[in-house]
Amino acid sequence: MPNFFNYNRQELAELLEDLGYQKFRSEQLMRWVYHQQETNFAKMQNIPKIMRSELSKQLTTELPPVQSEKVSSCGTIKWLLGIDAKNAIETVYIPESKRATLCISSQIGCALACQFCATGLTGFLRNLTTAEIISQVFYANKRLEEIYGENNFRKISNVVFMGMGEPLLNEANVFRAVDILLDDLAFGLSKYKVTVSTSGIVPAIERLTENCKAALAISIHSANDQTRNKIVPINQRYPLEKLIKACDNYTEKTKRPITYEYVMLKKINDQKEDAQALAKLLGPRHAKINLIPYNVIKDLKLEASDQTTIQKFKEILNKKGLITTVRKTRGDDISAACGQLYGKVKERNKKIRVNEYQATR
Ligand code: SAH
Ligand code: SF4
Repeated sequence: MPNFFNYNRQELAELLEDLGYQKFRSEQLMRWVYHQQETNFAKMQNIPKIMRSELSKQLTTELPPVQSEKVSSCGTIKWLLGIDAKNAIETVYIPESKRATLCISSQIGCALACQFCATGLTGFLRNLTTAEIISQVFYANKRLEEIYGENNFRKISNVVFMGMGEPLLNEANVFRAVDILLDDLAFGLSKYKVTVSTSGIVPAIERLTENCKAALAISIHSANDQTRNKIVPINQRYPLEKLIKACDNYTEKTKRPITYEYVMLKKINDQKEDAQALAKLLGPRHAKINLIPYNVIKDLKLEASDQTTIQKFKEILNKKGLITTVRKTRGDDISAACGQLYGKVKERNKKIRVNEYQATR
């Protein structure tokens, strides 16, 4: 049975029309579900009774069940959502003084095996459907109201595709989910506050530029192809020159800056020369850099850069006129910080081909 959460506004109207209903019913259904959080068709009073009972046999609003909830000492919450008996994904809520961010997953596992990432260690099972992506935001909103009461918590203002998986290897479902996140009849978020983060899938960045309104973050992590080939192996297929060209095209066409994420790894990419190379690569651009302290993954041998090194690195970039911030680590006491999301992936260490690219560690 089709799932309501798999459709954006236009697709839902078409689906309802195919089922023999008037198109405008889609807007009523969306208001009930997204604004009233009512997923039971039987309770939607402005829908004719006969349609209500028919719809429940034609369309489901079922969501993945929640398997666990962990609350960190800093207010960060991590949920494990069960996709099936053996697989689960993770979603993280991060409240701050002026905003709250939900970090969502786009795949079960990840095939790209970046050297520093727990999700990369799990292997890859499959892409999430749009419904599975949207269910993370829908559930989080609902659950936060349950925990804190309707107006007593920081409402989700930002959504970032920085959980498990590479969103640009699940383009169609992610772009459709972005439509729903931005739609006033659904979540109504600002296009500046929904961010797709990618390790650099160049052809998909080009399509995002044309077809998706999300903001873009690039996991750059090194300005040097040799280093990047090792720590972000997809660089072997889409090296820096191609990546930066696609990024420049995005900024030129959308007039929006890009955020570059940079995980600080001791003696691997945190030296003075690394900062200078990064400044040279991004220098003339309208770019923001977000330095991420490495969150230690127990199965990996990497070490985090110390605070002084991070500050020195930041100063070099600032002096070259690049707006640079250091990401605050949140939720590491519940393994909810960047890169710590293992979820549950049945097919651990399964290696798949990404086009001709063989993901290896
Ligand atoms: N696949 C996408 C989005 C998910 S990862 C991507 O790679 O961009 C989200 C961010 O967390 C990326 O910038 C990633 O490099 C970073 N990350 C991964 N492992 C990390 C770790 N152990 N410590 C800190 N950041 C990490
Ligand atoms: Fe996948 Fe992103 Fe982790 Fe790399 S950092 S393995 S692309 S989730």
